[in-house]
Amino acid sequence: MPSSRLPPLPDFLQLSERVWRVMGLNPGRFTLQGTNTYLVGHGPRKILFDCGEGHPDYVPLLEASLHQISPEAYISDIVITHCHVDHFGGLKSIMNSSLNHGGQIKVHKYILPVEDMDEQDIVFQSHMHIDHLNDEDFLHVDDHTTIQTIYTPGHSKDHCSFYLVEENAILTGDCVLGHGTVVFDDLADYMSTLHKLNAFKPGRLYPGHGPVVENGSERILQYLQSRQQREDQIVQLMTQRSWTAVDLAERIYTDVPYALQAAVVRGVALHLLKLEKEGRARLSDGSTGYNSTNVFEMVHKEWSLFPQPRL
Ligand SMILES: [Zn+2]
Repeated sequence: MPSSRLPPLPDFLQLSERVWRVMGLNPGRFTLQGTNTYLVGHGPRKILFDCGEGHPDYVPLLEASLHQISPEAYISDIVITHCHVDHFGGLKSIMNSSLNHGGQIKVHKYILPVEDMDEQDIVFQSHMHIDHLNDEDFLHVDDHTTIQTIYTPGHSKDHCSFYLVEENAILTGDCVLGHGTVVFDDLADYMSTLHKLNAFKPGRLYPGHGPVVENGSERILQYLQSRQQREDQIVQLMTQRSWTAVDLAERIYTDVPYALQAAVVRGVALHLLKLEKEGRARLSDGSTGYNSTNVFEMVHKEWSLFPQPRL
C-alpha cells in the first residue's frame, strides 16, 4: 500500500500510561507512515526504542514530545531493534543533542558475531560504545515498567523484540507490522521467531511501522498461517516434478503487477531455501550456498523434494 493511502498517524501520541509514540518523520514505500519510535517508562525515566532514520526535524520533535510528557522526563537509554538505517539513523543526532547533555544516554543492541556482520553493522558499531543485549535480558525502567528482550531473527539476523511485562504487549520492530506483510532475510528463522513471539500470547503489539495492533496473538497467527499455506502450496507442486523459483512464482501468483514480480520470485526462493535448511528439498544440480543476499543467482535452477521415507 503506498504511504499516501495509509491512514495518517499523528507525530506524537500517548498510547498507554507508559508508552508514547514519536514518528521518525520518514514516510515512504517501505517505511509506511515512517518509522515508529517509542518512549517507554512510567516515571520520569524513559527508554527510547529506535530513533528513526535521521530526519532533521526528528530531534526537535522528540525534545518537544518528552517535555509534553513531563518537564522532568528524560531519556536514560536507547534500544535499537536492528541495524536498518530507518531504525538507527537518528542515533548520532540524539547523542549530540541537549537530550544527552549529561552524556547519560546508554545505547543497547543485540550484537552479532563478527562473521555475521554486514557493512552497516560494522559502521554502526564503530561510532560509539554499544551495550550488548542478550536474549531474555531484562530492563527494569521503574517500579511499573519491566521489559524483557526477545531475540527475534528472520527480518534481519540481529533483530530483537521487547516484551513489556506490565502490559502483556510486545514492541515488535519489523517482525510484525501495523499494515501489510514483512520482508524477511531467512524464512526458517522468521517462522521460529513468530512462534516464539506467539508463545507470549500478547495482547497489544507496538510495531516498528504502522498503527498499534490490539489483537497481537491473532495477528501473529495470521502471519504464520499465510506463510504455512504458501509453503504447503509449493510442496504440493513439488511432489509432481522439479521446479525453478521463477516457474513456481508464475504458477502460484497469476496476477502480479510487473513492479512486484522480483519480490514474489524472491519470496518463493526463500521458501525453497527454508525447505533446504530443513533437509526437505535440494537443488537438482547439487549446488548449495545460496542465501538472501545471492538468492537471484539461483532462481532459474531446478529444485526437487527429497523423497519421503515410507513408514
Ligand atoms: Zn528493518
